[in-house]
Amino acid sequence: MIIMKKDATLEQITHVIEEIKRLGLRADVIQGEYRSVIGFIGDERKIPFDHFATLPGVKEVVRVERPYKLVSREYGKFFESPHKYRRIKVGNVTIGGSEPIFIAGPCAVESKKQLFRIAEEVKTAGAHILRGGIFKPRSSVHSFQGLGAINQKKAEETLNWLRQAGDMFQMPVVTEIRGEAQVDLVADYVDILQIGARNMYDQDLLTKVARKKKPVLLKRHFGAGIEEFLSFAEYIAAEGNRDIILCERGILPIGKGKEYTRYTLDLAAVPAIQKETYLPVIVDPSHSTGRRDLVFNMSCAAIAAGAAGLMIEVHYDPAEALVDSQQAITSDELKDTIDACLRIHKLMHPKAAKTKATSDEKG
Ligand code: PEP
Ligand code: MN
Repeated sequence: MIIMKKDATLEQITHVIEEIKRLGLRADVIQGEYRSVIGFIGDERKIPFDHFATLPGVKEVVRVERPYKLVSREYGKFFESPHKYRRIKVGNVTIGGSEPIFIAGPCAVESKKQLFRIAEEVKTAGAHILRGGIFKPRSSVHSFQGLGAINQKKAEETLNWLRQAGDMFQMPVVTEIRGEAQVDLVADYVDILQIGARNMYDQDLLTKVARKKKPVLLKRHFGAGIEEFLSFAEYIAAEGNRDIILCERGILPIGKGKEYTRYTLDLAAVPAIQKETYLPVIVDPSHSTGRRDLVFNMSCAAIAAGAAGLMIEVHYDPAEALVDSQQAITSDELKDTIDACLRIHKLMHPKAAKTKATSDEKG
């Protein structure tokens, strides 16, 4: 990254950007409060560091050694406020603020009635954001693939229900995008675009989703290390979109673990990732455990580990849910979970300024 002098002129900054472009690279320009910082995006081998150090207005050229750079704390210190996380505003909700946020809803949208009933229940239980899968990643082609898979008309209708439910109960909405063909359609209806664990490595999908300029919820692949996870978040940041919510959702279990938990919830990854990046990290206790009887404990543990929020699957009749019925909890259980999490958070941060996760401002 290039750190410009405090008194660098607009012409000098423009000149640096042009030089970067001349090399076939892209520039990530940050206008900080005191100075501008410019990051290189592209093939590192092409960068003549010494040349840039001599350009007028340049204070110094710093090499970020990490493979991920734009999402690193090292880079973020030039433009992020001194908060622990980047604050991502979605409608009236702030993710990464002083209080944890709760995303809740069904694994899959099954009908308009089911969605609206769950939306109302999770709102009452204290959730801030509504989730609902419309295009479901499934291990078997013979299982329910989500209403979006039926046809384009049904996909639009279902997305519309999600939008209406969010508006009616004043919650921003999130749903997963499974393929590039769905990006334009889904982005027209929802506030947060989710990339599922299985697609974390799809760099073309990440790029296309990032360009929608809407917050992206990126789930960690169950086989990905922290460095890889952040390196793929970098594909989103490289499009100038830094509104990225990282989600730890469990990694592959060892031995006979799979008999007991669906995945292994890597909670140490939460504070470890948070040391590396300014992006907020949330936890999914539903997919990581695959067991409704573990969701309460792991939710509490996630908040204790420093998670900026949770994403939890809820159904009024968990056993009858069309997808992931073993892990859905009821809205009463969600309420107990949220209440406990907020108490834990308060215990851990007694001096935190009291700003609520939701504000009355119109977003
Ligand atoms: C989901 O959140 O709906 C989901 C399928 O999760 P994951 O991508 O983590 O498996
Ligand atoms: Mn699910």
